[in-house]
Amino acid sequence: MDLCSEKEIKSLLDRHGFRFSRSKGQNFLVDGRVPEEIVRRSGIGEDCGVLEIGPGIGALTVCLSQAAGRVLAVELDRALLPLLSETLSGCGNVEVLSGDVLKLDLPELVRSRFAGFRPMVCANLPYNITSPVLTALLESECFQAVTVMVQREVALRLTARPGTSEYGAFTLFLQYYAVPELLFDVPPESFLPRPRVTSSVIRLRILDSPPASVPDKAFFFRVVRGAFAQRRKTLVNALSAALGIPDKDVLVRVLSSCGLSPDIRGERLSFEEFALLSRSLKEAL
Ligand code: SAM
Repeated sequence: MDLCSEKEIKSLLDRHGFRFSRSKGQNFLVDGRVPEEIVRRSGIGEDCGVLEIGPGIGALTVCLSQAAGRVLAVELDRALLPLLSETLSGCGNVEVLSGDVLKLDLPELVRSRFAGFRPMVCANLPYNITSPVLTALLESECFQAVTVMVQREVALRLTARPGTSEYGAFTLFLQYYAVPELLFDVPPESFLPRPRVTSSVIRLRILDSPPASVPDKAFFFRVVRGAFAQRRKTLVNALSAALGIPDKDVLVRVLSSCGLSPDIRGERLSFEEFALLSRSLKEAL
């Protein structure tokens, strides 16, 4: 069956009495070119073991099955399981796991399912859990690349440059682990039901180490979060409040030693500058 034909999908869903759940972020692809393009641009090949989050009725899963060595598709909604056993009946290299991706032990899953394969992630993510899922995938440090569809607004935040309104703490969190690339946009008409917003596919190439030396990761992220907690304030005022440093002269001196102006705002600093600043602050405090 054509898993991206709106007519065939509706008939499949009706036959199983399936109802869409907004709280589970269910927007299924109905334009066959999109899953093909996602898989083509993901760089996934036969040597890859792919984790898919939320297969839905399997439109992307079928394409992944054709390209990858092995596919593990984790689906939260039990009501979709009988539909998936029908639509994926010809896909011998796909395993469907019933459960919540946020509750899984990802490194253990990669060890047990993808031994001998390059571990990758590819998914049309449920938008309501985009940030926690990306956080879990990056912190698990067990995938080589992550290709996902997210809301365009989120894609812009993840790929933002310093000095723009989209640039923030999550941009820098991502840069600690990966190099992001915005691949292409997908309009609301490509989904059933139609979401209100445009979507984008991004690819994250996971790094072996952060792009600059960060000896104290927890402190680095305290500095980053502090810098963006009050975006409109200067970095000196934001860090004075966030790190509990009443003597602002200390902060001005540290900034100056990093070649940063005393009235600069946090949103202007690159990853490398945040790394240098957090190292210098750590030494000075
Ligand atoms: N991959 C399908 C497609 O592209 O047509 C469906 C994508 S739909 C945007 C998101 C899917 O994720 C739904 O099938 C939903 O039930 C599932 N889902 C939602 N929350 C989940 C979770 N915590 N763990 C696993 N799957 C989840």
